[in-house]
Amino acid sequence: MLQKLMQFMFGRRGNDELNICLIVAALILGFVNIFFRVFGLYLVYRVVYLVQLILIVMFFARFLSKNIPARQKENDAFLRFTGKFKKSNNDYNTVYSNDPVKKSKNYKYFKCPNCSAKLRVPKGKGKITITCPKCRTSFKGRS
Ligand SMILES: [Zn+2]
Repeated sequence: MLQKLMQFMFGRRGNDELNICLIVAALILGFVNIFFRVFGLYLVYRVVYLVQLILIVMFFARFLSKNIPARQKENDAFLRFTGKFKKSNNDYNTVYSNDPVKKSKNYKYFKCPNCSAKLRVPKGKGKITITCPKCRTSFKGRS
């Protein structure tokens, strides 16, 4: 039933990274929960089931919401959060330290032509295509 739901939801407008993550997490929990049930861990099963329900409710609440800016904000925060995770095992962190002066020297700033968001890219990459994380507009630039 969940698989049909996913097929229905994927690729639709209003579906963002956070929502995909929510539904995938719910599916994984549902799968793991089969084992808790099989092994008779009913208390764990009930807790996981509840978490799964909350994830699905959140998914639908976000999916059906008409407050797009608020949802966009949530998704941006989520992407920043996961971006931090990825950065922790990235070489960029060691090369470009947290020193703000050093940081600004190693980055070039662009303004999105569509939504005027400030975008930061690492310097010295030559001609690149920049995709705005907010509105997904692509434009070319030189870093
Ligand atoms: Zn933009």
